[in-house]
Amino acid sequence: MKKIVVVFYVFVSSVLYAQQTEYVDFKKAEVSLDAFDENLKKVTGKVDYMFDVLKPVDSIFLDSKNINGYIVSLNNNDSINYYVENDKFWLIHKFKPSKDNVLSLKFEANPKKTLYFLNKDNDNQIWTQGQGKYTSNWLPSLDDVNDKIEYDFLITYQNDYEVLANGKLIDKHVGDSLTTWKYDMKQPMSSYLAALVIGKYNKKTETSKSGIPLEYYFYPEDSLKVEPTYRYSKQMFDFLEEEIGVAYPWQNYKQVPVHDFLYAGMENTSLTIFSDAFVVDAIAFNDKNYVNVNAHELAHQWFGDLVTAKSGEHHWLQEGFATYYALLAERDVFGDNYFYYKLLESVLDLSRQDLSGNGTSLLDPKSSSLTFYQRGAWVLHVLRDKVGDVVFKKAVKNYLNKYQFENVETSDFIEEVEKLYGKSLTSFVNYWIKNKAFPYDEAFTILKRQSVFVNEYAMVDCEAKSSKCADYLKYYVSDEAKVKVISQVPELVTSDTFKNSFIVRQAISEHVTIIPASLKEDYESLLNDKSYITIEKALYNLWVNFPLERAKYLAKTREIVGFSDKNVRMLWIVLNLNTPYYEADSKYELFNELVNYTDASYNVDVRINAFKYLDLIKSCNEDCKKNLESAKSHHNWRLVKFAKELSEKLEQNKN
Ligand SMILES: [Zn+2]
Repeated sequence: MKKIVVVFYVFVSSVLYAQQTEYVDFKKAEVSLDAFDENLKKVTGKVDYMFDVLKPVDSIFLDSKNINGYIVSLNNNDSINYYVENDKFWLIHKFKPSKDNVLSLKFEANPKKTLYFLNKDNDNQIWTQGQGKYTSNWLPSLDDVNDKIEYDFLITYQNDYEVLANGKLIDKHVGDSLTTWKYDMKQPMSSYLAALVIGKYNKKTETSKSGIPLEYYFYPEDSLKVEPTYRYSKQMFDFLEEEIGVAYPWQNYKQVPVHDFLYAGMENTSLTIFSDAFVVDAIAFNDKNYVNVNAHELAHQWFGDLVTAKSGEHHWLQEGFATYYALLAERDVFGDNYFYYKLLESVLDLSRQDLSGNGTSLLDPKSSSLTFYQRGAWVLHVLRDKVGDVVFKKAVKNYLNKYQFENVETSDFIEEVEKLYGKSLTSFVNYWIKNKAFPYDEAFTILKRQSVFVNEYAMVDCEAKSSKCADYLKYYVSDEAKVKVISQVPELVTSDTFKNSFIVRQAISEHVTIIPASLKEDYESLLNDKSYITIEKALYNLWVNFPLERAKYLAKTREIVGFSDKNVRMLWIVLNLNTPYYEADSKYELFNELVNYTDASYNVDVRINAFKYLDLIKSCNEDCKKNLESAKSHHNWRLVKFAKELSEKLEQNKN
């Protein structure tokens, strides 16, 4: 999983219920979902579980939350005792060791989370998020990650929709109004990786070097965004298969954007779901693209889906590996400097976390995402540096092959490295993994040894102004180093500085907020950049600095919408409303447009932006307040948190 906000604390349950796995081995689940009720947010279905009994036992359970209406049979016998209590379904029977038992359950689920029913542009969209939410909210199943089962899905829905689930589509039966899609898995997985998506989609398909079908789904209206959104997908897929040294473990790889997703992306087995905020045009690609999330979720198909951490203590075996391998894939696309710069950013973030007293051991299940993801990636980077490429790659390969379709802990991985390295890694593990403190000084030293670019970046420092700083902007230092200088001493920017690349110009729009008249024309050229961030910032700064030219700036940017959160459009409306002489007749209409963006028909980011602007201009009217109230019960926690905080603030201001 990849979260949007970096510092967010995850709690992963490490509770193992009474070790049912010692007595029963659930092998296969054939799930059919045949009726979705969008109004009541219900789904009815049937599941057949195939299982072996390993030792005599008198009851078997499945996790089951808000699921009822059970009709039960065991090996075709329907006079069987069962009850549902405390979020568990219990089957009571004197089981003897036996193979291939079949438990059939008909059920009706009323999920409060995990399976979400949405409306997007008057069409239905239904999708799941299993990790952290539990699949037992819509399917009687086992929440324990250590119980891996092969799931096959048979899903019936309206003809004009697309239905996706884990595995390969092996049959599709089209009826008068309903179609049944049959998806088949060949291998087992933990239940949190079970997923389905129903919506209006088209798809584009490529094939990997190794012959795996790569399916890219998109909304019918987004055909021009397919290329920038999915750019580098095949390159990164081919790269990771080669780099990891173990063939992609599943039959195909599908990626699908959904509306108002809870996170950036989720690595469901063979079916990555990601936020449609990452569906970008060619301009937005430059600022905010899907490449990193794409690589991260793909890497999880091995690290997380093929081998799965036994408990939260070993969560870094998923997130640290996915972060590290995503970085390697991005290095293949964007080059070495990009790679080392990202590692440097991690060191800085981790050192800040430690200095503020929030550092934790990598094995602490309550660690921050920053620790699990970035420190985890760092451990692998340092370990590879220590043992060498050959040992590292062979060990990763052995680890994946040995534990495939099983569960792992940190020592399982370390032992595979030690076997090839020939020496103990105990002190390495203590120092880099177990210790609460992250050795950021040492990490920084390693980076400086590895990268000329990092060395230079560290050397360029204008916090204490020096005569060299103006030269840095004139002569060749890296773009990243120039950005650093501009952020520290924006007044050094000259007309020549504008001749630099896109990211340097973006830094100018961000840091040069007082624009000297001599730079006015250069600054105006920022409005032509292929970056919605640069345009947004430049428009605002120009509007503030040159009041007499406001009409000109507004006229130039009138057609620009910006990202999917409409960043440029909303700023434009607010600036227009505050430019009294400009298009005086249209103010009322524009204000209504802004208020309308708070409505539930818009995505979470559009709504948050609109609420923020309306609060800023102190104009959250009745419609805005009504939409704010309804936002509090949205399924997306970011919007809920925002709406609650803003409501409280508005209440306080009233008093
Ligand atoms: Zn992840």
